[in-house]
Amino acid sequence: MKSDPTKWRVRTLQLQRPEHVFFDGQVRPWEEAVLHVSTEAVVRGLNVFEGLKGHWQENGDFGWRTLERHYERMRRSARLLHIPVEFDYDAFRDACFAITAAELRPESDLYVRATLFVVEGHYGEGTVSDLVLTAYQQPQKAPQPIDVGTSTWRRSPDLSMPARIKTSTNYQIARLALLEGRGRGYDDMILLNQSGRVAEGIGACILLVRDGRVCSPPPSEGALESITLTIVAELAASLGIPFERRPIDRSELYIADELGLTGTLAEVTMISSIDDLQLSTDRPVLSALERRYRDALLGIDPHPAVEFAFVPV
Ligand code: PMP
Repeated sequence: MKSDPTKWRVRTLQLQRPEHVFFDGQVRPWEEAVLHVSTEAVVRGLNVFEGLKGHWQENGDFGWRTLERHYERMRRSARLLHIPVEFDYDAFRDACFAITAAELRPESDLYVRATLFVVEGHYGEGTVSDLVLTAYQQPQKAPQPIDVGTSTWRRSPDLSMPARIKTSTNYQIARLALLEGRGRGYDDMILLNQSGRVAEGIGACILLVRDGRVCSPPPSEGALESITLTIVAELAASLGIPFERRPIDRSELYIADELGLTGTLAEVTMISSIDDLQLSTDRPVLSALERRYRDALLGIDPHPAVEFAFVPV
C-alpha cells in the first residue's frame, strides 16, 4: 500500500502560494504578512485558529459554511489561552469576505485558515493578537476513500493540552502521527487517548457504524468540539439514523461495519482500511449521510443545520 498525496487535501493545499493574505486589518500582498521572531506567536507557537470552508452552490452563490459557529469556537479557544479577541462576528465575516473577494476563482471552492496570532506580550502580560486569514483553492469534489492507521502517538489529556483548544501547538502530535503514517503507507491517522481509546483523526472526528448506529467519541475522550460532527448528528436525526457520542475502544475500529472521518474539510470521508484490515465497500449508513451532507453543502437540498454566510455579489 502506498499513500496518495493527492488525498491529503488539507496538507497539499498548504503548499499553495496565494497572492494575498488578510493581515493587520486588511488584504495585503502575501509577502507583507511577516511576524517578528520575538513574538509569542513565533517563540511559543501561540495562536488559535479555525479552518473554514466556502462552497459554490448549485445556483451560483458562494457561501461560507457555519461561519458564526467558527467565530464562536475561536473565541472559546482564545479564552482558554487568555488571548484577547478584539473584533466581533461582523468584523470576522467582513475579513473573510475580503480575502474571498481577493482569492475566489470560479472553478474552485476555498479553504480559509483564520489564525489569531499573539503579536505582542509576554506570558500573559500585554497580550495583543492579530487576525490573519490565508485562503487556499480546493477542488469542487467529494473526498475519496482513504486508508488509515492508528498512531503510536497519543492525544494529550485535557490537563496537559486540552483538545478543545484549537491551537497550532496541539497539531505537533498530528504532524508526528502523519510522518509515522506516511512511512507506513497510510493517507491519514487516528489518535488514541491516554487510556488507549479512540480520540479522533488528526484533523477530523471519527464516525463508526455498528448495527446501523453511528457513534463518535465525546470531547472528553480527546476530540475537538467539531462543528461538522454536530451537523452530521442533525442530518442523521432527519434521516432516522441513530447517532450517539460514546467512548470507543480501539478493538471496535476493527469490527466496525463502516468507518469514516468527518470535519469541515474531510466532509464525510470513507475509510477503506484501518491498520491494513480492509473494510466492506458496502457503506449504506455513511453513504446516506455523505449524500445528504453534500446535497446540503451545494444547496441542492438545503438543511437548517448547514447554514451559510453568502458572499455579497
Ligand atoms: N478534530 C481535529 C483535530 C480537527 O483539526 C478538526 C478540523 N477542524 C476536526 C476534528 C473537525 O472539526 P470541524 O468539524 O469543526 O472542522
